[in-house]
Amino acid sequence: ALTDRFEGIFTRLRGKGRLSEGDVDEVLREIRLALLEADVSFTVVRGFVARVREATVGLELSGALNPAQQVIDIVHQELIATLGGETLRITYASKPPTVVLMAGLQGSGKTTASAKLARWFKGQGRNPLLVGADLQRPAAIEQLRTLGRQVDVPVVSRDDAIGGEGGDPVEVAENAIAEARRLGRDVVIVDTAGRLSIDQELMEQVRQIAQVTEPQYTFLVVDAMTGQDAVTTAENFHQALELDGVILTKLDGDARGGAALSVKEVVGRPIAFASNGEKVADFDLFHPDRLAGRILGMGDVLTLIDRAKEAFDDQQAEEAAARLMEGQFTFVDFLEQMQQVKKMGPISGLIGMLPGVPKELRNQEIDDGELGRIEAMITSMTTEERLKPDIIDGSRRARIARGSGSDISEVNALLDQFRQMQKMMKGMGLGPKKAKKGKKGK
Ligand code: GDP
Ligand code: MG
Repeated sequence: ALTDRFEGIFTRLRGKGRLSEGDVDEVLREIRLALLEADVSFTVVRGFVARVREATVGLELSGALNPAQQVIDIVHQELIATLGGETLRITYASKPPTVVLMAGLQGSGKTTASAKLARWFKGQGRNPLLVGADLQRPAAIEQLRTLGRQVDVPVVSRDDAIGGEGGDPVEVAENAIAEARRLGRDVVIVDTAGRLSIDQELMEQVRQIAQVTEPQYTFLVVDAMTGQDAVTTAENFHQALELDGVILTKLDGDARGGAALSVKEVVGRPIAFASNGEKVADFDLFHPDRLAGRILGMGDVLTLIDRAKEAFDDQQAEEAAARLMEGQFTFVDFLEQMQQVKKMGPISGLIGMLPGVPKELRNQEIDDGELGRIEAMITSMTTEERLKPDIIDGSRRARIARGSGSDISEVNALLDQFRQMQKMMKGMGLGPKKAKKGKKGK
């Protein structure tokens, strides 16, 4: 839903050649609503919108991006930052085993995530051991054993000779560390019991397990579907446990994004891993940039923005933009920018990437072949002709047509189009006139 909202906001924005303060205000208002609707914590929303506002203030005509793309880029970067910025790099205890403690509410996905994590460590060339320290329900150990067989990782738990229920989870965890050393296992993942809501006895139990196992990582497993509630949970656990990170589960579900976007800022700890399915392979380190892209739901646009930012030489584009503002845009600029755009790879309808191109032109379909013909015609012009297209008379047109292997009618069409474009740019007043109008609401 958050994705749909963002898509709507930016689709409307994309048609605009220039953004007034009113436009920006409206976008910010819509982003705020979209985030609140996605159950993102209010403090997070407030900070988010404030930072986006700050970044959009005085948004200049950019060389590489049109205004809508600039705003998308800003929101994208802010989403990444809110999601924690960087992917966690797991480090290992200098004296093995490296202990990972899993905490969280019942049903959050701890047991499943323990097995998935074990599989992940195997992929890193490690030898994990799973520890079943959830002795509340007999079924819990069986579940972990089944999962352990699936990922081919041994599981230790209460001595099975005891049978039935009972046993001390703290003792089980403590013994497991010694067992890991004996078995030559270098990573120990401790699955713990969860209750339906925060509960002092449970907290005390997990705290004691942490005390005896000295985990390198204590992860809070959070169900992404629980939205903002997840954050309250996280805060509670964080007070008792000194969390190192969060494992966000059920991202494949109808999660609204609230938990993912709120956790880092509220708990002060990043999302370490994410689980996005029931299969053991649906699990990986958390990549903020990927989720941010998914939330924005504009994979293609974001790729384009990145490529455009790389391809455009900023200064060159700035100069072109300055000339353009003064209504001095020439074929020289046009060619330069066309070639810049071409560097970004195959294009269709990509003309909108050219800075300052009016929206009337932006939506025109221009295929690569056509762009190639235009380029051929411009390169067949002399520099003087490129700078002053007005001097291109009949015989010059004929020469350009011959030189580029095109019809005179095509040359005429290009010149017409170019003149129209120049006129439109002047008409749109990409200079001071329009800027004043934009500030009227102040
Ligand atoms: P625990 O009580 O915290 O140990 O939670 P479990 O690991 O037993 O998981 C509770 C339920 O959530 C199980 O039915 C899991 O299959 C399911 N589950 C866990 N992670 C995911 C996930 O990423 N996606 C989906 N769709 N289901 C999950
Ligand atoms: Mg469990």
